[in-house]
Amino acid sequence: MDGTLLDGRFVMALAQRTGREPSLAGLLDNDQLSPTTRTPRIAAVFAGLPKSVFEQVARSLPLKPGAVETVVGLRKAGFVVGIVTDSYRIAAETVRRRVFADFTLSHVLTFRNERTTGRITLCPAMLHPKGCLEHTLCKVNVLEHLREESGVSADQVLAVGDSHNDICLLRTAGDSVPFESRGSDVSGAAQHTVVGDLRGILQLLGLPHPRQAEV
Ligand SMILES: [Zn+2]
Repeated sequence: MDGTLLDGRFVMALAQRTGREPSLAGLLDNDQLSPTTRTPRIAAVFAGLPKSVFEQVARSLPLKPGAVETVVGLRKAGFVVGIVTDSYRIAAETVRRRVFADFTLSHVLTFRNERTTGRITLCPAMLHPKGCLEHTLCKVNVLEHLREESGVSADQVLAVGDSHNDICLLRTAGDSVPFESRGSDVSGAAQHTVVGDLRGILQLLGLPHPRQAEV
């Protein structure tokens, strides 16, 4: 979601908006913490914030060029489009509605009386006992769940991502596109590269480009 559909990073924008940047600074991209430790600690930074602020920030971040048209174009071609993200469901669902995607898989922040408790439930679809051998929490594990629960094989999946945490998924999916990837290890994990406008994905697949949509 961040960097692929959104031009920006949700947690950073949220921290800036709510004056919590100092608390976030030592946690974000801290490789000394495992994702299963880091993600709950980042969530705790936002304890007490109202739900409405999460929705406002997810609505206000600009979308990447061609985001709506690409999701719509893929759906018209028969793809089911999901947003698989290490962000929060409340943000992912807001972005899903903006781009007309089908579903989201993400971590779930707990809210009580319209404010977050700062506690988080890690995305169950990113955990699998027979999944990624390298990471406990990994987007590639979504493919295992898809296969078991829907009979969809990895070969039938097109993955789009830009970050280190997308690499396992990009390597395993039948087709994969790094979009403005952050680092050569990310672009090396996939067959194609698209830069600048997501509609390049439709072009790669030989699909028609829908008309410019109003975002
Ligand atoms: Zn992995």
